[in-house]
Amino acid sequence: MLSVEGLRSRYGRIEVLHGIDLTVGSGEIVTVVGANGAGKTTLLRCLSGIQPVSGGSILFRGETLTAVPAHRRVARGLAQSPEGRQIFTNLSVEDNLRLGAYLFADDRVEKDMDEAFALFPILKQKRNLSAGGLSGGQQQMLAIARALMGRPSCLLLDEPSMGLAPILVAQIFDVVKGMRGLGVTVLLVEQNAFGALSIADRGYVMETGRITMSGPAAELVADERIREAYLGI
Ligand code: ATP
Repeated sequence: MLSVEGLRSRYGRIEVLHGIDLTVGSGEIVTVVGANGAGKTTLLRCLSGIQPVSGGSILFRGETLTAVPAHRRVARGLAQSPEGRQIFTNLSVEDNLRLGAYLFADDRVEKDMDEAFALFPILKQKRNLSAGGLSGGQQQMLAIARALMGRPSCLLLDEPSMGLAPILVAQIFDVVKGMRGLGVTVLLVEQNAFGALSIADRGYVMETGRITMSGPAAELVADERIREAYLGI
């Protein structure tokens, strides 16, 4: 579904992605784990089109995306739930979800909203309340639900567990795991390597702008180097 080859990106004169190769197959959950500053967010921003690429290529469902602007990538089925959630705090929960469906004006929007509420019942309870009043975990749920309202075939998730209490982290990872059942392919970027690798099919390890390891998630979790460097074991 998604294939990235030799991807490079820079901030000014400083290159931070030095040739990234990765693939995400249809229906897979693939994770990119790595420490703070490794370049994970930059990679996702390149994929969604908000960060310029200085080399390499991005192929999505057979089409080269490199020159396609961000808003057109959403229409092609690639949606991002950004780091830090970036929900509209002064709008209601429901209006945040409606904004996620801005591309559509059909009957399915109401059905999609019901599905989002089935996935996150707490959002239904709070649908008319201001999104700014939600807890951090609820805001993360809203960010994911809003991205799903765009009917993506591939969802890019940037650190959904960041800053959440352990019980909410488990809940968020459960929902991400459930994307398989919804037919949504997932690329999940995480510092929480253990949580991410526990639900992913495959994983990549990123260090200072390079992929240093990759493989089935179960193998990476069992790898001594990863256990030492990222899992604190
Ligand atoms: P985090 O988990 O903190 O988001 P990350 O792995 O996602 O980390 P990036 O945010 O992609 O990493 O950052 C990669 C590198 O690029 C870091 O060295 C960072 O300091 C640098 N960087 C990120 N954003 C900018 C920017 N706007 N201008 C200059 N340098 C930046």
